[in-house]
Amino acid sequence: MLTKIFEDKDVHKLETYINKGERFVIVTHITPDGDAIGSSLGLYHFLSVLGKESVNVIVPNDFPVFLKWMPGATDIVVYEHSKEYAERLLSEADIIFCLDFNELKRIGKLAPFLMAADGRKVLIDHHPEAGVFCRLTLSCPEMSSASEMVFRLLCALKSFSDINKDAAECIYAGMMTDTGAFTFGSNNPELYYIITELINKGIDKDLIYKNVYQVYAESRMRLMGYSIYEKMKIYPAQKTAVIVLSLRELNRFHYKTGDTEGFVNLPLSIEGIRFSVLIREDTDCIKLSFRSVGDFPTNRFASTYFQGGGHKNASGGEFYGSLADAVTAFETAIQEMHPAGLIRN
Ligand code: 5GP
Ligand code: MN
Repeated sequence: MLTKIFEDKDVHKLETYINKGERFVIVTHITPDGDAIGSSLGLYHFLSVLGKESVNVIVPNDFPVFLKWMPGATDIVVYEHSKEYAERLLSEADIIFCLDFNELKRIGKLAPFLMAADGRKVLIDHHPEAGVFCRLTLSCPEMSSASEMVFRLLCALKSFSDINKDAAECIYAGMMTDTGAFTFGSNNPELYYIITELINKGIDKDLIYKNVYQVYAESRMRLMGYSIYEKMKIYPAQKTAVIVLSLRELNRFHYKTGDTEGFVNLPLSIEGIRFSVLIREDTDCIKLSFRSVGDFPTNRFASTYFQGGGHKNASGGEFYGSLADAVTAFETAIQEMHPAGLIRN
């Protein structure tokens, strides 16, 4: 029923790795999102069902509360909190899966330990231009999410029956979050075939939506209102909207990791806005999130000006310096690479 997206030789190679391996580590990107956690835990449940000696998910830093309901989330090893343990797991692993990232830089301080580890590395990712740092690279930029790839991979391994309800919930959550609850990048009819199969596995998709999108604190809702009402700036000539949030402002609203998730999408619902940016002051750098509708390649913008990357319509980057300087750099960048100029629809 599903179009074949992996080469047989890759699937066979992976099958051999999985059969031979006993100790597995799954690593995903810094500031993990729904797809990072969903795809990692989907694979984690599958490997656990196989009865392997040790299966662990390692994330570079903590992830938002709205992802912590996922089965297995409490077992995740957060590198920032358990450095030595995570380093030991990596060094002892037979197989290391790298999920939902395309370059080593995306796993932060875990990168040197990953590279030093002897275990066979397998990349499963849907970002464009996958780097070559794994023995087996499964890169499918046309896929909605790494979670969708995990589902397809398990089917290709003829292991559909080993996808249990826990794995199904995590995979669905990853597919849902990376498509904005199936509102972008979600026209492939096969997505809905996969969803049908996940529902057949027993997931409650309505509850998963609620668990992810309807669990915020009052202060987060007020921060969202503040961001739109007081902080959103429109650059009409560039068809661009920008929200800038300082640490001080975030603290005022009792900011917790993940609280600004989704804010950057909001201005795109304004007629005529084609590029939306959130510039947020973090403790160690300025974090930028980019979203576009249409042709404007936000990932090229991110890599050209802000050491970042991602997908065409959703990407991110960083700036080292003051918040004011980040905004100035951004304003210069949209003069040079004019978002309105490149856009067709
Ligand atoms: P978000 O804006 O939600 O943090 O990230 C959106 C997308 O851009 C995700 O696919 C994420 O992997 C990617 N992304 C975010 N920040 C960075 C970054 O600093 N570097 C790279 N290469 N990709 C990023
Ligand atoms: Mn993803």
